[in-house]
Amino acid sequence: MTVCQGNIQRTMNANLYSLLSERFRARRTHTCIETDTGRCYRYGDLEQASARYARFLSGLGLEPGDRVAVQTEKTPQALFFYLGCLRANLIYLPLNTAYRQAEIEYFLDDAEPRFVLCDPGALDIVRALATARGIEHVFTLDAQGHGTLPDACSSTAPEFTTVAARDDDVAVILYTSGTTGKPKGAMLTHGNLVSNAKTLHQAWGWRADDVLLHALPLFHIHGLFVACHCALLGASTMLFLAKFNADTVVRLLPRATVFMGVPTYYTRLLANPTFGRETCGRMRLFTSGSAPLLAQTFEEFADRTGHRILERYGMTETGMNTSNPLDGPRVPETVGPPLAGVSVRIVSHDDRDLPAGEVGQLLVKGPNVFKGYWRQPDKTAEAFTADGWFRTGDLARRDANGYVAIVGRIKDLIITGGLNVYPKEIETYIDELDGVAESAVIGLPHPDFGEAVTAVVVRARGHEDMTEESLLQALKQKIAGYKVPKRVFFVAELPRNAMGKVQKSLLRNQYRV
Ligand code: AMP
Repeated sequence: MTVCQGNIQRTMNANLYSLLSERFRARRTHTCIETDTGRCYRYGDLEQASARYARFLSGLGLEPGDRVAVQTEKTPQALFFYLGCLRANLIYLPLNTAYRQAEIEYFLDDAEPRFVLCDPGALDIVRALATARGIEHVFTLDAQGHGTLPDACSSTAPEFTTVAARDDDVAVILYTSGTTGKPKGAMLTHGNLVSNAKTLHQAWGWRADDVLLHALPLFHIHGLFVACHCALLGASTMLFLAKFNADTVVRLLPRATVFMGVPTYYTRLLANPTFGRETCGRMRLFTSGSAPLLAQTFEEFADRTGHRILERYGMTETGMNTSNPLDGPRVPETVGPPLAGVSVRIVSHDDRDLPAGEVGQLLVKGPNVFKGYWRQPDKTAEAFTADGWFRTGDLARRDANGYVAIVGRIKDLIITGGLNVYPKEIETYIDELDGVAESAVIGLPHPDFGEAVTAVVVRARGHEDMTEESLLQALKQKIAGYKVPKRVFFVAELPRNAMGKVQKSLLRNQYRV
């Protein structure tokens, strides 16, 4: 874009890749990625591979704004391909590897990509779906980084001039997990991604000699944006695991300085007897997000390693909004104050601001907040207040120091006999009971109360004799009668999605009578 300022004409380019490449230009020989099988790629390799992909896509006739759908395993090539899409100013559309035919069909219909990249194992299905929709370009990339895409690009020149992007050009469409209704495509612009990357890089004190142990998937904001963008902005090294595995993390952690995880990663590490203080010799920062981290996990981790996990909060539509501080108190079961440049409000059901300590919906405003839902102007309008605050759908409370605590989702709020019950509060009480490993509290239809508070509980090892009656008895000593669950179900494990979130909708369906 060309902007005139007085009589000076200057070119403004907000392309995220241009910012990243400015940072690693002087470090082309520095290791960018080392895989768990020991393969190394330098920043110069990243530059060349992303140039090849961008050139190849442009050569096929794809133009800025065209969508590119990707459903592949996590590999360095998949990351380079994402960067190639940014360079050509195409809209990248990552898809969860767990999605099956009906879901892929929906995304192809909704996003209308011109190019699809998939795993060779899914090629027959994906090609048939793509052909039926007139999508001409279908290529493959496998878990080793091989496939028809790298083959087709092998003789493409590794040079490409990054296409200038405007701040509000859409860089990525990410489909929300969609626990109710059809998933919506959140449009994130170059401006959104650049602002959040810079803010996190600064807030978490990123250093050039940092080594990130990257164990998260690449189809979600946590692994793709929070983790990769921070590391790339610092021109740091990533130890890239194809998947999280506690033994591999324990083996590689002594070489790392930063680790980002969902709470399940931390409970799995704590369950690994070889994990301890010695494993974390070089570590300076552990972060957690995407789902609530239990105070018990936080404390146990601090005892075992001496590290206080830094918990932060964000979502697909906004990137990161709040974070516990790098320096300063990290308070368990809070997600810290708002990040620089991000404003938050906590409001009642009629959008009145609530004082500290009261629970209400969290609203967010800032350069990180997405542009809207792809081709859904009505849903976009519903998601914002008249004066532009995004309704997160999360219930939260703020303490006197401005630290935010997430207490649940609006749709998970239980109204029993006309009284509000916040599942998180009840879960916290249950989790504190001796013999409980973890719990999920849901509301189930009830003829008398409207909804009945219901607990689904995982017993701790050695406490298999705990009964519904003994648990309820213990709970009744602690909380008001209307909050005490009407029923308790014991399970071996809570159902979680790839990001560690408990899938309460599955539990509600399972236990509904
Ligand atoms: P997603 O869009 O898949 O990233 O999911 C975002 C949602 O995850 C948020 O709206 C919250 O409900 C939840 N979430 C993210 N981080 C946290 C956290 N640290 N504590 C509690 N809930 C979280």
